[in-house]
Amino acid sequence: MRLDRFVCKSTDLIRPDAIALINNGRVVVNGEVIINEATQVHENNCIMLEGQRLTPRPSRYIMVHKPLDTICSNVDEGYLSLFHLINIERAFDLHIVGRLDTDTTGLVLVTDDGRWSYNIITPKKQCKKVYRVGLRDPVSSDTALLFQLGLQLQGEKSMTLPAELEVISPKEVLLTITEGRFHQVKRMFAAVGNRVVSLHRQSIGEINLDIELGQWRHLTPDEIMYYK
Ligand code: URA
Repeated sequence: MRLDRFVCKSTDLIRPDAIALINNGRVVVNGEVIINEATQVHENNCIMLEGQRLTPRPSRYIMVHKPLDTICSNVDEGYLSLFHLINIERAFDLHIVGRLDTDTTGLVLVTDDGRWSYNIITPKKQCKKVYRVGLRDPVSSDTALLFQLGLQLQGEKSMTLPAELEVISPKEVLLTITEGRFHQVKRMFAAVGNRVVSLHRQSIGEINLDIELGQWRHLTPDEIMYYK
């Protein structure tokens, strides 16, 4: 992780203060003064701040059941930030792993472990996300095949990766995708002439939403380990 992040994770300092201390030569990494805050360091490195060895706090891994009309952002932008639901110290250190639209509900993962969130988000790992989708029109008989083959969405360089459609009722389906393109589910249904009227994410990889709307909980060690 970056040196400024390491210092913040080990102290009560906010980022600008940590950067100022680093730039002023007050931080020593493995015996050497480092003034570049972007230097990559490892948790096992011996990092001293003004003579005190720093030990980072353990990372945090959280699931939130996002309600409608909340925004996946660290700040309120017209809607209430999802972070208002998480009553935890230093919530501003956390970031969202795969945003949902304001009018989408369901599973949102939140962490301060950048490597862990990368493992979930990177297209390389093809982590499955399952959405329950409400549709304006009954789902057409060819939609499952079109989604399986991949679609060319407007403004995208590549086709969507194969997606799995399970029909629950004419206007309700489960869609499994392994990517996270902008408004992907809504755009996929728009591309086949339909329209999403409700959208809910029920799982991300092996992690299933199992809490009430508006609630949050820490992930279990098993849930965390899937993406370590
Ligand atoms: N796809 C969408 O269109 N919106 C979301 O919130 C998530 C996936």
